[in-house]
Amino acid sequence: MKSNLTAPTNNGEPAAGWLKKYSVPIATYAIFTLIGLIVWAIRDIRYFALFNGIGTTELVTRILVFNNPRLRQPMRRLVQIIVGGMLLIILGFVFGVNFQFEQIFFDFQAGVVTGALIQLVIARLIIPFVFGNAFCSRACWDGAIFEITNRKNGRNFKRKPWLAWGYLLLIVAMAFAVAHYFTNPAGDENELLRKKWIVAENLFIIGGGYLLTMLCGSRAYCRLLCPFMTISSLLYRFSIFKITPVKSADCTQCGACSQACPMLIDVKESVRNVERVQNAQCILCERCVSACKRNVLKVSAKKAI
Ligand code: SF4
Ligand code: SF4
Ligand code: SF4
Repeated sequence: MKSNLTAPTNNGEPAAGWLKKYSVPIATYAIFTLIGLIVWAIRDIRYFALFNGIGTTELVTRILVFNNPRLRQPMRRLVQIIVGGMLLIILGFVFGVNFQFEQIFFDFQAGVVTGALIQLVIARLIIPFVFGNAFCSRACWDGAIFEITNRKNGRNFKRKPWLAWGYLLLIVAMAFAVAHYFTNPAGDENELLRKKWIVAENLFIIGGGYLLTMLCGSRAYCRLLCPFMTISSLLYRFSIFKITPVKSADCTQCGACSQACPMLIDVKESVRNVERVQNAQCILCERCVSACKRNVLKVSAKKAI
């Protein structure tokens, strides 16, 4: 008797082959649903709805992309709009959940657990072991807006660890000072103040990020400063799924993949060396995959070939 894994599907394709083909969307859906269940147990059902919604959106759009690769970037942008919109507009502006970095320290001083810490743990400490910094290309609303300013300007400054960690420490110090000397925006009674923080900080990041991009090159806030990226970058090397050359011999070294990369990663060099993209700032946006006309690149858990 055949097991379910090898039983043929309706169109004659073995179920095991189907599972293998859709391993990335299935893994994404399973991880987000599991996370949703855990956070539901810790907090409330809204978080399950959120994470299950993210998983479902990813599952559906990734299956569509498998069957029509030209949809890869439009679908990713759709995910950014749906997920980023849910996080910012519904949870942020309607329910007053702040996902920005300083909120972790506001909450810490108030002794509560809310969106920012949940984002840090899930998007920056758990998901990076599977999908690296994929949160940045699919869920972050600031990242969605920075998509508009992905352009390169010839002055592409590289990331400096002292600058990134210095900025992170500055935010921590600012958050502790505000909570200590002014009003801590954490807590149900300070919802209006928290919403003002959400608006002000997003304006600061988007405005400052746009200016930085003009001065320092594509997606400069993400590459140079963002504290979430500073933390998740530490774990990137452990990520299971990475951009992987799957037929390096077909590469013409045209450089289109490197040109398309908003994080200024030299993808072409990785292909030349027949190795996966190991850059800690890869956000798994797959723009390099879309740019390669010879289908050399893929998001994969396997070794480069
Ligand atoms: S690096 Fe920061 S600002 Fe940029 S997309 Fe990621 S979380 Fe958002
Ligand atoms: S776009 Fe494709 S063919 Fe061109 S350098 Fe990159 S991997 Fe090679
Ligand atoms: S290497 Fe590819 S997936 Fe990674 S950031 Fe650059 S374009 Fe996006």
